[in-house]
Parts: sequence; C-alpha cells; structure tokens
Amino acid sequence: MEVNIVVEIMIPHNGRHPRHPTPFYPVPDIGPFDMYSDVAAMAIRIEWQKDDGQWISRPLTLTRTKLASSATGTGITTTKFGPEVEYMTMAWLRCVKFMGSLMQWEWQSKKPFVQLMVRYPGRVRCIETDFLGQKYVVSIADKIKRPEPKLLDLEQTAALLRKRYGSENMMIGLPPKKGWWAVPGEDMRGLINRTRCDMCVFSNDNRSKCTNRKASHEQGTEKFSCDLCKSLRRWCTWTRVANDRVHIEYPFLVVPFSLKYKLQGIPAPPINIDLLNIDSEEKDEDKAEAMTQVDEDEDEDEDGEE
Ligand SMILES: [Zn+2]
Ligand SMILES: [Zn+2]
Repeated sequence: MEVNIVVEIMIPHNGRHPRHPTPFYPVPDIGPFDMYSDVAAMAIRIEWQKDDGQWISRPLTLTRTKLASSATGTGITTTKFGPEVEYMTMAWLRCVKFMGSLMQWEWQSKKPFVQLMVRYPGRVRCIETDFLGQKYVVSIADKIKRPEPKLLDLEQTAALLRKRYGSENMMIGLPPKKGWWAVPGEDMRGLINRTRCDMCVFSNDNRSKCTNRKASHEQGTEKFSCDLCKSLRRWCTWTRVANDRVHIEYPFLVVPFSLKYKLQGIPAPPINIDLLNIDSEEKDEDKAEAMTQVDEDEDEDEDGEE
C-alpha cells in the first residue's frame, strides 16, 4: 500500500504565515511571541489508497504537549536558554524547527533559545511545473532570513487582542460585572456570568480551573492572568458573545475532541519525481537547476496522470 505524508505550509502574506484550515498545532492567533501563530500555518496529513482504488486523506493534529521548561529529560532551562523557553511548548519548538527546515529559515540571532529552533540539516528541493516547456524544474530552495521571535509582554498581547477583537465584546484582565453579559441564547448556560476565563472554558483542558488568577501588579495594575493565560503571556479575557466560537480563537495545550479532523476522499496524488536520480547528476551545491523531462510522448496532459 502506498502511503504519503504530506506537509502543507501556507505561503506568507505581508511577512506572516496565514492560518491553515487544519493546523497540526492549532495555537491561538495571539500568544507569547510575535510570530507565535506561524506554526498554525502548517498542516500534516496522511494519505493512502484504499483497496477499491480511492485515495483518502486525514490531517493529523496534536493532542497533548508540555512546556519546554517543564518537559523532563530535555535539559531546557531558563538559566541555560533564557526566559523565552518558559513560554514555549515542546510542540511549538518542534513545529518551528520542522517548518524552518522546509522553509529554510536562517535565524538572524545567536541567542541561546534560538539555537533550539535551528533547522534540521538537509537540502530542500523546489519543484515547479513549466507547462509551456512540458517539464518540471527542480531547484534548491532559497534560504529565508528571519529575525528571532520576540517575547511579548502582557500589555503588548492585550493591544493585539484589542486590535483583533475590539474592546466592546471582550473584557481584558478584569472579570466583567453582572449585567455586562449578552442576553443568553438557547445554549448559553455556563457561558455567561462566569468567572472562569475564555481560555479555561474553551480550551477543554480539564486541568485549567482558572486557578492562580492572582492580580498582577505589573505596571501598577490589578488585572488577572491565570495559569493558562500566563503561559500565553496574556491577561485573562471574557468574551460576551461566547457562543460564537469565532471570538474565542483556538485552544491551547489540549486540542478538544471536536477538532479531530475528518477523513476525506481525495483525487489520486500527482506522480512522484525521482529526486534521488537528479541528486546523482548534480554536483553543484548552490542553485544548480536540474531539468527533468516529463513523459515526452504525452501531449497536452499536465495533470500528471500515471
Ligand atoms: Zn483561566
Ligand atoms: Zn485566563
């Protein structure tokens, strides 16, 4: 049986990677780093052919991860790698490393924590279809320079939340008073007049009881940030139209079962190109372009049918 593992990465737009519809690691859009949600641009799916010839595919997703600084056996400590690692999960680190390997990211920083995100060794090929020339063009991927991820503070993430979701329906840092909540819809019970914050209610993480919600005295404020929000460098938030999950963004640390992606039928994948064969002909390390002719006898058929 032929089985493919396919990694899809959304192409960056204005310097940021847009979210994939089925991210492998569905982190919230706003988190502890400026490029935090770039990892949600990556999807990993498995595809295979059933006995009846139909191809099917299913996106994979994470179910659980740990903060890097509390994962045992990794040796990742704040004293060794800096305060940043307190806000990185192992999944996030691995996703950045993996995505960076395919995208050929080159970090413009020598900070200790950045060393944890250096891409895996190995060359990456780009394959483009030259329809007019009836051939595939194979080249070596360009390296992309990236500044180090910047750790945001609570006020910076609050500003991003406000910009993204507005302040009319979202309380940031301070629990709303009774009467602030919207008129309840049919299934709004438990979602209004609550003290637990959005993240704790909607992440489906049974461990997040919205505890340790100590008021922070940072910058003289009295706002709240619970354990879960703290790990995201965010104040707790309470969203009025809580039934409308769009406002709640995406869960963190534990993916709710509702996010399990579905199996679906797909067209047969395109033909594979024998890259190993090209490798042997190519000696030049940089930018050498190897051309490979697509079935010369076939005319007008670029769909790659076998
Ligand atoms: Zn909470
Ligand atoms: Zn919270």
